[in-house]
Parts: sequence; structure tokens; C-alpha cells
Amino acid sequence: MAEEMKPHVAFLPSPGMGHITPLFQLAKRLVLRHGIRVSFLVITTAAVQNFLHSAASTLSPGLSIIKVPPADVITADMPVLTQTCLSLRESLKPLKSILIQLNPNALIIDMFTTDAIDVCTDLSVPVYSFFPASTILLAFSLHLPTLDHEIEGEYVDVPGPIQVPGCKPIRTADLLDQVKNRKIDEYKWYLFHVNRLRFVAGILINTWENLDRSTLKALRENSFFQNLPTPRIYPVGPLIKDEEHLTDHKDEEIIAWLDTQPRESVLLVSFGSGGILSGEQIIELALGLEMSQQRFILVVRRPAHAKAAVVSFGNHDEDNNPSEYLPDGFVERTRGVGLVVPAWAPQVAVLRHPSTGAFLSHCGWNSTVESLAHGVPMIAWPLYAEQRMNAALLVEEVGVAVRVRIAGEEVVGREEVERVVRMVIEGEEGKGMRSRARELKETARQAFDSGGSSFDSLCSVVESWKTHGA
Ligand code: UDP
Repeated sequence: MAEEMKPHVAFLPSPGMGHITPLFQLAKRLVLRHGIRVSFLVITTAAVQNFLHSAASTLSPGLSIIKVPPADVITADMPVLTQTCLSLRESLKPLKSILIQLNPNALIIDMFTTDAIDVCTDLSVPVYSFFPASTILLAFSLHLPTLDHEIEGEYVDVPGPIQVPGCKPIRTADLLDQVKNRKIDEYKWYLFHVNRLRFVAGILINTWENLDRSTLKALRENSFFQNLPTPRIYPVGPLIKDEEHLTDHKDEEIIAWLDTQPRESVLLVSFGSGGILSGEQIIELALGLEMSQQRFILVVRRPAHAKAAVVSFGNHDEDNNPSEYLPDGFVERTRGVGLVVPAWAPQVAVLRHPSTGAFLSHCGWNSTVESLAHGVPMIAWPLYAEQRMNAALLVEEVGVAVRVRIAGEEVVGREEVERVVRMVIEGEEGKGMRSRARELKETARQAFDSGGSSFDSLCSVVESWKTHGA
């Protein structure tokens, strides 16, 4: 079919690779498998815009990247979410004229681009939201306006866990950071955006039926808003990078090293694109890995001065030198058994490799989905945002992870690191987690293939786009 005859969908992700990556995968899939034409609007750095532009241009004429310049509203010490939301509000001022020109059949927004809903209402363009995090966070977020209305004071002071209709109760200690203090702007921005989810035509989510069955059921069977139906939920995952080009020599060396290791023997240790540990914590982590005598790939960033973990997105810190902050002699003593990788590793390629046996992760949702779609059990070491909720899901419901015991802001000791590493790689519990992870890998594959639940779910959204404006 000629490109201009195909249904046309525009995408509007929030900045940040955790948002852009799965949405870009969804866009590719719609173009390549579902006969859709996509205009992918990106409000982010020129480097990421150019990367996406070249990735899209080699793929298909049906996928165009539209660069929207990001507004600069950042002031010193402004928290990440406030920065993102203020910048998006400014950057989205030209959205109406862009959409008039594009004239799409639908717009897919994500968590923090809900300002687009008003524009689309004016233009009669249906809006769908893509939720890039876990189903339990979605359920909590849909319920948050009700909690905001019903609960006085802080949620963290409520005795007992937080009840979300139909879902497993959430321990207040596991709540996402943005709702732990209702007086700050981060909370207000989060509430503002999730409150607007009630106005979208449907919510696509990066999961699959077997991973999150009970929460998906809760989302479908419960009413989250007075006088308004809950938008239809479409699980369309796992959406992960389907191939990863090893961009440099360093990446190739990592894979070559894995090629020489025994099957399922190596632990990948990585805290996502933003997680940074304190200096003291990195030392304990490294010594715990050494004491465990297991093979590992340790991805490390220069430590933060703070005692607790901090988040620093977009800084790949290319020139960091791990021997400056790892324990003395660690790199030499563990040579052959472990590989220390500064800043950034080709995570999906490592998780896909048969020598990888487990993943110690901060439990960001993309990392979680990538691990489970490759059948790799996890050690959950949540740091910030909603990662503690993800960890609870993985350990208590899905049974594919062990959680590191973290006491408040205390440093996790080397003995605890040794315990969890041994448990997952060589213990009986680890065997159970691995076999559960393998089952999930198979269900992920089935869900994503033609005729699977995620494939069918996507087909049904596509049908509604085809009829709109036809
Ligand atoms: N990632 C990677 N190499 C690294 C660290 C992270 O490729 O060394 C990728 C990872 O594969 C995932 C994303 O960065 O796709 C991290 O997203 P996630 O949602 O897990 O965590 P966030 O970075 O948003 O906290």
C-alpha cells in the first residue's frame, strides 16, 4: 500500500531513554508488522534526535522522526521530574500546528506529555497513552487521585499498606519516591499527569499477560474513576531493543569475554541509565562480588558524594576510571573471573548471551522486561522512583528474584551481597528462579509472536485507528 494511504499515528514520548526506547520499539513494530505510518516526535538532545533519525531512515519510509527543540527551563537544584514537566510544557507550545500539518489518525503520548490531550481534543484526534512502567504502578497511578482526595497527611504515615482496587496491597515503604512527600512539586506534577489518564481512549503497557496477570485483571475489572470508565488496557510487551549494534571496541570485548565463560555462569551488575552508588557502597558491592567467587560483569559509574544512591540521567561519564574508586587491587584480583565496565554496557546483548546467568539490577522497568524476556533471574536492588514496587512484584508475585536487604539509607554490607549472589547463581532458590524466568521467557515469546496475546492486543488498537478518520 502506498505510504500516504496507510493509517498514520503520531508518537510523543517524554524525554529520557527509558521512555523513548520502548516507544521507538513500538513505532517500529507498528510500521513493520501492522502497516501503520508513524511520525515520531522527539523532544530531547540533538544527539539522541540524530541517533533516532539515522536508525529510522535505514528502517522504512513509514517511520519519520520529527525533531521538536527542547525548551531550556532548568534552574540549579530543580528535581528531575519538575525539570522534565516544565520543559515539556514550554516545548509543546508548537504542538497544535505540528499536528494540524501531520493530521494523524491518533496520537500516542506517555506519562508526562499529557498536555497534548487538550490540543487533541480541539483537533478531534484520539489520544492513547503508553505507560512505560509496571502494571502495579499503573494501577496505583490511576487510583492516586482518589487517594489524594481520601487520605489526609502523608501516605507514608498511613498505618498498613496502601490498597489499590483488586491489587496486592503496596507497602508504604515501597511507594514511588514522587508520592512520599505530598508537599513538593514532584508530587503535584505526578498527580497532575496521572489524573489526566482518565481522558485517553486506551492505555498501552509494556508487559504481557503471564507476567502481570492478576494486576491486569484488577485493571480490567475495577472502576478507578467516578462517572468515567477506566480506559481500555492493552498489554503489548515485551518491547525491548530487538538488536543491539555493538557501537565500539569496548562492547565487542565484553561479548568476546562472555563467549569464553561457561553457560549461565555470569552475573551482570548494572543500575540502569541513572543509578549512582556512594563510594562506600561501591566498595562493599565489589568486595561482596569477590567473596561470592562467582563470575560477573560490573558496570560502574563514578560514585556520588551522598551516602544514599542518587540519580543522574544522561551522564555516561565516559572517562571514569574505576580503579580510582574500587577497592585496592580489586581489578587485578578478579581478573578472568570478573569484568569491570566503566559507565555503560550493551545490556540487551549481555542479557541475551547464553553465558549470562543472573542480573543484579535497580529494577527499572526496561531492565526488568529485558531480563525476563531473556529468561534471566534477578537480584533486586531498587534505588529510586518506583523500583521498590517492581522489586516487590518480582520477588513476591512472579518469583524470579531475590531482594537485597536494605535498611533505610544504610550501606548494604559485603556479606549481604555475597549471600544474594551465591543464592541466585549456585543456590537451590536460584534454580527455582531460573526455571520460572525460563517459563516467562517462553510466554513472552508466545505473547509477542503473531496470534499471541500482546500481538492481538496491538491488532485491536490498530483496528480502532484504521476506522478513525477512515
Ligand atoms: N542500559 C544499557 N546499558 C547500561 C545501562 C542501561 O543499555 O549500561 C539500558 C537498558 O538496557 C535499559 C535502559 O538503559 O533499556 C534503562 O532503563 P530502565 O527503565 O531499566 O532504567 P532507568 O535507566 O530508566 O532507571
